[in-house]
Amino acid sequence: MKNIDTYDFTDKKVIVRVDFNVPLNDKFEITDDTRIRAAIPTIQKIRKNGGAVILMSHLGRPKTGPEDKFSLKHLVKDLSQKLGTEVQFADDCIGQQAADKSAALKPGEVLLLENLRFYKEETKGDEAFAEKLAKLADVYMNDAFGTAHRAHASTAIIAQFFPEEKMFGYVMTNELISINKVVKEGKKPITAVLGGAKVSGKIEIINHLLAKVDNLIIGGGMMFTFIKAMGGHIGNSLVEEDLLDTAKAAMKKAKELGVNFYIPTDTIAADKFANEANKKTCAAGDIPDGWMGLDIGPETIKIFSEVILNSSTILWNGPMGVFELDNFAKGTIDIAMAIADSTAKGAFSLVGGGDSVAAVNKYNLKDKVSYVSTGGGAMLEFIEGKVLPGVAAIEG
Ligand code: AMP
Repeated sequence: MKNIDTYDFTDKKVIVRVDFNVPLNDKFEITDDTRIRAAIPTIQKIRKNGGAVILMSHLGRPKTGPEDKFSLKHLVKDLSQKLGTEVQFADDCIGQQAADKSAALKPGEVLLLENLRFYKEETKGDEAFAEKLAKLADVYMNDAFGTAHRAHASTAIIAQFFPEEKMFGYVMTNELISINKVVKEGKKPITAVLGGAKVSGKIEIINHLLAKVDNLIIGGGMMFTFIKAMGGHIGNSLVEEDLLDTAKAAMKKAKELGVNFYIPTDTIAADKFANEANKKTCAAGDIPDGWMGLDIGPETIKIFSEVILNSSTILWNGPMGVFELDNFAKGTIDIAMAIADSTAKGAFSLVGGGDSVAAVNKYNLKDKVSYVSTGGGAMLEFIEGKVLPGVAAIEG
């Protein structure tokens, strides 16, 4: 496999699939540039090494062809500033203009193509569309981890037109190294901390993790499905009735495998779903009728934190409570801090999934964990043991 660090990019045109799917406000200003910043080292490496860069990405979910609000042209100014060079723009990702501008690129120059998803062929994984993109360049690089679990034209199908000249960029390389540090090379004790609203999206990952971890910690709204499955009284808390048996089966499997399965013992209950609701601490399996658990309680925080502090490898996905409401954020904050403390003591910690990443950013703990994954869905599928098309296309 070719490697971005050792490859000679001199006079090569490199088409790079980046993840520039950034949020824009109604003035088309970028409100969170994390993903753009993440791609800069890859782009600069190619430029400094004598290559020209053609960037392709999606932005948002356009339904029926081009829409101004989803145009990547809104990113040109910011990207030019970050790179210290004027980025060119092709207002169609394929066609004559893209071909002409690509052909005219000189070493060190950068061209950004218009949103790939203005063509439905992108998400359909259309081969002819992928070939048109491929014709623009000599080398293909995938640096978009967030879409690596999709077999789209630009993330996977295009690779076949570069049988030799294909590789990962730094974002992809670092993501794969970091996730493998947990799933393949994790030092024991390994602890997975799962939260968020629903069990349904996470049951496969729970089952897969049971074979790998020493401790599995469950918080967030999903805890109540487990508590109810054990016969607890959960009031109006979030529950997935159809998954009670699945939850029971997971707990049984954990016991068989000798995995410590931690479910909250207490909760902060509220009389309505609102920040200003009345609240009280109660046993997680004894919530009064009409009340709902919106955060983990103090005893649970203590138990979970101790497990985390005694772990060498930690994976965290999903908040412990409704952290968007300040009065129910303590569980998520304290668990995030425990992960940061454990990291300071030498543990490797990987945080992934939209809401836990948002929490880590909100509480300024980004530099206190080992790695923050940029691709929630891709990370979870990778951990579930699935082959990611975007990874297989480069490695295969
Ligand atoms: P997910 O997308 O499944 O990771 O879920 C994230 C969402 O779960 C966040 O918006 C949280 O507010 C929500 N959440 C966490 N704990 C609870 C809870 N106890 N009850 C209801 N929603 C929760």
